[in-house]
Amino acid sequence: RYKTLSYNRVLEIHKQHLSPVVTAYFQKPLLLHQGHMEWLFDFEGNRYLDFFSGVVTVSVGHCHPKVNAAAQKQLTHLWHTSTIFFHPPMHEYAEKLSALLPEPLKVIFLTNSGSEANDLAMLMARAHSNNTDIISFRGAYHGCSPYTLGLTNVGSFKMKLPSGMGCQATMCPDVFRGPWGGSHCRDSPVQTIRKCNCAPGCCQAKDQYIEQFKDTLNTAVAKSIAGFFAEPIQGVNGVVQYPKGFLKEAFQLVRQRGGVCIADEVQTGFGRLGSHFWGFQTHDVLPDIVTMAKGIGNGFPMAAVVTTPEIAKSLAKRLLHFNTFGGNPMACAIGSAVLEVIKEDSLQENSQEVGTYMLLKFAKLRDEFEIVGDVRGKGLMIGIEMVKDKMSRQPLPHEEINQIHEDCKEMGLLIGRGGIFSQTFRIAPAMCITKPEVDFAVEVFRSALIQHMERRAK
Ligand code: PMP
Repeated sequence: RYKTLSYNRVLEIHKQHLSPVVTAYFQKPLLLHQGHMEWLFDFEGNRYLDFFSGVVTVSVGHCHPKVNAAAQKQLTHLWHTSTIFFHPPMHEYAEKLSALLPEPLKVIFLTNSGSEANDLAMLMARAHSNNTDIISFRGAYHGCSPYTLGLTNVGSFKMKLPSGMGCQATMCPDVFRGPWGGSHCRDSPVQTIRKCNCAPGCCQAKDQYIEQFKDTLNTAVAKSIAGFFAEPIQGVNGVVQYPKGFLKEAFQLVRQRGGVCIADEVQTGFGRLGSHFWGFQTHDVLPDIVTMAKGIGNGFPMAAVVTTPEIAKSLAKRLLHFNTFGGNPMACAIGSAVLEVIKEDSLQENSQEVGTYMLLKFAKLRDEFEIVGDVRGKGLMIGIEMVKDKMSRQPLPHEEINQIHEDCKEMGLLIGRGGIFSQTFRIAPAMCITKPEVDFAVEVFRSALIQHMERRAK
């Protein structure tokens, strides 16, 4: 542990010198000193099971020995060159990453954050299509830069500043909270509590949301589109899943209007969804551009945009694109080690197996507690939506959710939050977690719910 600053001193410095825009997650902020795989340790040595992995970022485990070794080796060779010079780690990484993507997604641009990657994808879409309008879902989070803020449709991030001209928000096809949606609309082992009258193979909710999507397309400038951004499963919006077949049909409609389709895999990529390496594969679609960040570097700042040779050419014709740190040797060496670990440790398979096990366990809590409205997700991306009651599906009040969240932390379990009312607990641990750890997490969550019901009854 660090023998440096006391807890109170850290709070003081934070108040005086650090961004007041970022709020601490807990009433008593966590001061962390160390991480090991799926575990975190605070300044007093207390241990926490990290089920949010630094906002879905630590993909293979905190300080994974193989990733650490790769970083240490690179540290003594070469830190930085900038992309104007070549260095083998970048080329090795480009070859490894492109091998994981289907044709024709073979050209890689390296950046440092998800926002930067999406900024670049917006430029590409516009440069390639010669159109301006870009569509994204309500509730989507694609970044916080002035450009990507136009795509991010989460109220709390929308500053009173003009941002994102040419961006259109379309209705999110949320089968739990949206106007339409029924039991087996979505691709998840757990179905919604809303009953569905569709015959097998047909989804009326999907058709209704597609009509809304067409309306948005019709309001675009000159009825033409530069691009459409979608997360395969929405992260910040609370692990929202769309009806099966929606993205496939939406991609076709966008292409008919001259636009390109962008899959934002910042949270869903690198095997997290279990059944597939990339989230877009779970929708049986082929995007024109894929953006990735977070888990790509297991916590090291690193991001990428992957596209087709044609789109890359359209960008190159228009401008020079430069990024001082994008593709630096440290990030590339780490990124390569992350890809090797995912394969060697069978982490995608683990996401599938342990994730499904966890989902089914949490689904039992939905049946047990009236305030657990929905349990959803795929692999190790799980959402638990909290409601006043199942009938109304109204969000559980803030103070009540905050207390459950805090109680989990006090019992040694860290989970995330999401959704426009911050009503959904988000679970996305490092992909190395085990079933006994899941049992512990579910038991902690259950205890927090019981404590909550007891408080309510008083
Ligand atoms: N896209 C998605 C889906 C995200 O969840 C995030 C971050 N929460 C971003 C983009 C932006 O990434 P960054 O914070 O690295 O800029």
